[in-house]
Amino acid sequence: MKKIILLLGMLSMFAQANNYEKVSVEVTAEKLNGNAYYIPGLSGSATEYEGFISNAGFIVTSEGVVVLDALGTPSLAQAMLEKIRQITDKPIKIVIVSHYHADHIYGLQVFKEQGAEIWAPKGTWDYLDSETAPNLLESRRTSLYPWVNDETRLIKPDRIIDKDTKFSLGDHQFLISYFGKVHSEGDMSLLSLNDQTLYSGDIIFEGRIPFVGDADIIAWSKTLDRVRNIEMEYFVPGHGTASDQPQETMDLTYRYLNFLLDKLTAAVEDMAPFDETYQAIDWSEFEGEPAFEAANRKNAYAVYLYLERVL
Ligand SMILES: [Zn+2]
Repeated sequence: MKKIILLLGMLSMFAQANNYEKVSVEVTAEKLNGNAYYIPGLSGSATEYEGFISNAGFIVTSEGVVVLDALGTPSLAQAMLEKIRQITDKPIKIVIVSHYHADHIYGLQVFKEQGAEIWAPKGTWDYLDSETAPNLLESRRTSLYPWVNDETRLIKPDRIIDKDTKFSLGDHQFLISYFGKVHSEGDMSLLSLNDQTLYSGDIIFEGRIPFVGDADIIAWSKTLDRVRNIEMEYFVPGHGTASDQPQETMDLTYRYLNFLLDKLTAAVEDMAPFDETYQAIDWSEFEGEPAFEAANRKNAYAVYLYLERVL
């Protein structure tokens, strides 16, 4: 009897796994340092490349796997799981979610089905309880169909992290740095101490102008100062290429955000109107960067409005 139940259980796992529409984008796992890997997303907007536009990562310990972020569709997470399974058959124990934005969380159900615990930063419930969360999922069911469909669910966290947290799994030690409301309602990073590899989430976009949205830019700038002082050898940004040159990987986001903050603080303090301010700023340092056209004016306006509220 036990055997039959086990067999049925395995069959249902198999059936679930096969329910996800296959992706045609190539999902690869790159080894960084020791037992730390990352899944490099492509560079594009939210609905390009079947939603494969953000990075994820995983660390293989002696007791199981710790995953960082779950990619933008269950199909992508399934492809990621298959990559993990080529490296280890150890259980997926914990998924650390750097922040609750669609491109990092729509794959969570795949890891939940594997029995993983989901850890997320404080602020996650503000997102899940907002109208944005179900509305965006509904629209992605069209714009990312069939990879996001009626079977795609928002997965709730099992544990909320609201301060810096050390934990270990098997032979590995980890440090979660909790940043608060920075790029989203709540952000945190994961450092694998054994592998000296930091997964930063979206406080760093490498190789392109970041998306500012309704971020708290003052908190973001302070967070970057903090992250620049974390000791590490490898750096995995939320978007863009990982490297063994952390300061270089962080450089563009750091320079850009501080530039926005400096220029727009001066304008808001002088009560200068936005259009005039925007025209007068010399953007040449950033004009050649990918996503500049798409993001810069929106970013500048968002920061201007934010500073008007808080200064
Ligand atoms: Zn993102």
